[in-house]
Amino acid sequence: MSILDSGAWVSMMTLIGEITFFLIVGMVLAAVALAIIATASITHGKFYLPRILIPGMVLLEGLVKAICKLLGLDDKDLITFFITLRNTMNTKAFAGTPVEQRAVFLPQCLRSAECPAHLTPEGLKCRHCGRCTVGENVAWLEGIGYRVFIVPGSTFIKRMVKKYRPKAIIGVGCLMEVKDGIDMSDRIGITAIGVVNFKDGCVETVADWAGVRDAALLGIEHPSGAVDFHGPAE
Ligand code: SF4
Repeated sequence: MSILDSGAWVSMMTLIGEITFFLIVGMVLAAVALAIIATASITHGKFYLPRILIPGMVLLEGLVKAICKLLGLDDKDLITFFITLRNTMNTKAFAGTPVEQRAVFLPQCLRSAECPAHLTPEGLKCRHCGRCTVGENVAWLEGIGYRVFIVPGSTFIKRMVKKYRPKAIIGVGCLMEVKDGIDMSDRIGITAIGVVNFKDGCVETVADWAGVRDAALLGIEHPSGAVDFHGPAE
C-alpha cells in the first residue's frame, strides 16, 4: 500500500482541504464586510471603522475592490477612496521620514503652455518665470528641504527614485496617475502620499497646491518665512 492510500495521508489532506475552505470563506466574508464599510464611507463622505478598514485593506484590497464594483460603486469614487485610505495609512510613516529623504513629483502638464523650461535628464528645470503657479510652489517646497522633480512620465519617476532613493514621496497628478504612483511606491517599498489635481487634462492642469503643502509639512515644523500655508491653490 502506498503512502497516498494510507489513512493518515487521507486524514491530513481532508484537514488541509477543510482549513483551506474555511480560510477562503473567512476571507470572502471579511472582504464583503470591508466592502460594505468602504461603500458606506464613500456614500457618507467619512471613514467608518478605520481601525478595521485600514489593516483589512492591507490584506484584502483586491478582493474588496472587486466586491465594491459588484455593489455598483463608481470607479472614480472607488479610486478616490482608496487614494484617501492609502494616504491615511501612510501618513505616520511619511511624517516620520526626514525631509532630506523625501521627494515631490509634479507632472509637467501643470506648467504654462508658454513655459520656457527645458527638459533635462532629471525632468523640467523650472525657470521661475511667473507664468504659472509651479514656480512659486517648487521654490517653497525646495525651501523647506524637498527634492522636487517636474516629470513627463512614470519612466522619469522610476529613474529618479533609482538615482536618489527617497524613502517617501508626494505624487501629484490626475486620479489614475496618483493611483498608479501609489501602487508603484508600494511595490518598491516607498511611502507615498498622493495629491489629485483639481483639473486634469494634458495642458495647464491645476494642482491642489494646498493639499501638496499640507502633505509636505507632515512631520516637520512649520517653516519660518512660509507665509501662505494654503498657498496659491485654485
Ligand atoms: S514658472 Fe516654471 S514651470 Fe511655470 S511656466 Fe515658468 S518655467 Fe515653466
